Amino acid sequence: MNTARHIQTLPPYVPIEPFEVLSARLGREPSEIIKLDANENPYGPSPAARRALAELEYPHIYPDPESRLLRTALARFTGLSIEYLMAGAGSDELLDLLLRVCIEPGDAVLSCPPTFGMYAFDTHLHAGRLIEVPRLADFALDLPAIRRAVETERPKILFLASPNNPDGSMVPDEAVNALLDLPVLVVLDEAYIEFSGLGRLGAGGTRLAEVPQRENLVVMRTFSKWAGLAGLRVGYGAFPEWLLPMLWKAKQPYNVNVAASSAAIASLEDLDYLEEKVAALVTERERMFSGLARFPVIRPYPSRANFILCRITRAWGDEAASGRGSASGQALKSRLSQHGILIRYFDKPGLRDCIRISAGKPEHTDKLLEALNDIL
Ligand SMILES: *Cc1c(COP(=O)(O)O)cnc(C)c1O
Repeated sequence: MNTARHIQTLPPYVPIEPFEVLSARLGREPSEIIKLDANENPYGPSPAARRALAELEYPHIYPDPESRLLRTALARFTGLSIEYLMAGAGSDELLDLLLRVCIEPGDAVLSCPPTFGMYAFDTHLHAGRLIEVPRLADFALDLPAIRRAVETERPKILFLASPNNPDGSMVPDEAVNALLDLPVLVVLDEAYIEFSGLGRLGAGGTRLAEVPQRENLVVMRTFSKWAGLAGLRVGYGAFPEWLLPMLWKAKQPYNVNVAASSAAIASLEDLDYLEEKVAALVTERERMFSGLARFPVIRPYPSRANFILCRITRAWGDEAASGRGSASGQALKSRLSQHGILIRYFDKPGLRDCIRISAGKPEHTDKLLEALNDIL
């Protein structure tokens, strides 16, 4: 007996330490932990979404496979008509569905790292061939190299996150336009667009409205970040007409559960509240940026999302004294965790010795900067 070869060659699953387990190890109550490692929204769901969850009327009935109420609310929110919209159990599910529908073994998929890890993961999961065109040193896209790769490798799909995770930079409109002229399906992942400061929630800054006019544009959005629903798993996408019937055929019927759907709809009816929280997070992002920039060893990159990527520029503390220093970001992450503050650490091509810190509440920024003062 055997499993498929492309599954055997996937890297093994690395369990993440759940929040409660981690807080127990750090000897703190979960409520005392300042969790700035996964770009979640520390304010959580809006009051209307919490009410909707508390008052769920039909959790014993299967959800609507077409998520009609949610998609109707999304159509109003985005200005796009309902037939282009599909909801999923997080945008992660929709990425998986898209590749399942588009990719046959050996088909090429283009990604521009450093970027969101799920693009590579899902490509391998569906036996696709991952083509990577690294970003430039400032995380801008290498457009000539992308053009060449499209010509020579003929990828079916090009993944672009804007703002990009983990650096927070946006893909300029002209670059998106140039890439849309290439013979490839462009998947624009706007998981953080609400933090980009480009106008109102829903229709501001997004390229969603162009989906009906283009053959090769998909736009992905999520409730996980701006609406504080990461734990409920709800996202959506806008897809070109030719693709939609295939996606509907392949979708699991009950992918968006009743709780997620109700909370998402209620969020869309509580936009003033959520907009205020998004603005508060953007304010904290900027305050955190100035605070971080004051430490000579930390170089923060400007971000349009709800997190800041920083490069650790030289060794500090014990590491410097011992002449090592290659893992200084790792050590910083570990020292911060002793203060009950969780951040993300990266050490891979394009992200050598980098940390990513999510924007939190004002008191989280204060505690973070205090802890850094203490450590550095
Ligand atoms: C967080 C994130 C998502 C995933 O969102 P879910 O809706 O929670 O699955 C998608 N893309 C990027 C770039 C992200 O950082």
